[in-house]
Amino acid sequence: MKINFFEILKNLFFVPKCISCNERLSPISKDETGAHGKICFCEDCFKKWEKAKGALCPVCSNVSALCSCHPSFFKDKQPNIPSVCFYNPESNNVQTRAILKMKRTNNAQYFEFMAEELAPFLEKTLARMAIDPKDCVFTWIPRTNSAIAETGFDQGRELAKNVALSFGATAQPTFVRQKGKEQKQLSKKERSKNAETSIFLKNPKHKNPFGCKDKRVKAEDFASNKAFVIVDDVMTTGATLQRGVELLQNAGAETVIVACIAKTETKTKK
Ligand SMILES: [Zn+2]
Ligand SMILES: [Zn+2]
Repeated sequence: MKINFFEILKNLFFVPKCISCNERLSPISKDETGAHGKICFCEDCFKKWEKAKGALCPVCSNVSALCSCHPSFFKDKQPNIPSVCFYNPESNNVQTRAILKMKRTNNAQYFEFMAEELAPFLEKTLARMAIDPKDCVFTWIPRTNSAIAETGFDQGRELAKNVALSFGATAQPTFVRQKGKEQKQLSKKERSKNAETSIFLKNPKHKNPFGCKDKRVKAEDFASNKAFVIVDDVMTTGATLQRGVELLQNAGAETVIVACIAKTETKTKK
């Protein structure tokens, strides 16, 4: 096993723990075989995580990436919503625990892992839509300031940053979040209203409404050549992501697609 000095030092200060069961993990080099999973999971939880990725939707009998139970708004915009697994806030299963831990812990390795898990699903969807990942603008919808203050980071940003990195790109801030509640506290109807009154484009009056730092890129370029990819952790009603898609489309973006680590499991036929 090859471990470099920096990694030894890092492990002295940050004891790596399983993202699901919190068991202490032995330090591991990124170059080691199977390091991708071993960096975040104990052996037992990783096996369960791999199995969870193949779990089928109880309603449409598809894996999460192909589940057709998502809101109809997205159905004519993209062939499927790339995602890794199903999430169930009432369950104590390995994937729900892992995603909750990622959301609450500012651990770069957890985000890197989850983004690497999502990237192949996203790549397949982009291929089905004949979109080159190089022509994508990766972005996210920010959390409320109070939610960011609570954990010290924005998990949407961390995920978008890491997903963009898997494609050799940089995530771009596109939206702002004004006052308003976190969606998880609200009912389905309240969520749409809350999204509409709290999420906006970063700089709508600017000649480049997307707020892209690269001054050479103009709004028109975005509309004709680029596809926006909004990355999120968990999709429940889809209200937040729908608001994001609508804002970008109203500003002239031709293609906007969404991708998430997990979809909240559907229980009954709609
Ligand atoms: Zn574990
Ligand atoms: Zn389904």
